[in-house]
Amino acid sequence: MKADTYGTPTEQARHRMGWMSATERKKDGRHARCATCRCFHWETVTNGWGGMNVKARCGHPMAAGETGHATTENAVCAKWELKP
Ligand code: SF4
Repeated sequence: MKADTYGTPTEQARHRMGWMSATERKKDGRHARCATCRCFHWETVTNGWGGMNVKARCGHPMAAGETGHATTENAVCAKWELKP
């Protein structure tokens, strides 16, 4: 998972939002993370064996996709806002 100016639409959206991976966030010394952001949510998806999985999603209006795009609990971006 990455942010990339010339990548897939989702990677480009992450780039526009100033998204950084968990490793980049820790290196940058930022304490805010996706898990505490108002745009963060879990999406339930069915897996190939009829079971359910959950995926970490960013639902910010600038995110790609109808229900937002993938992120991780320990990533962050420049659009972070505290969960109410
Ligand atoms: S807006 Fe940024 S900090 Fe918030 S969930 Fe999306 S990617 Fe994470």
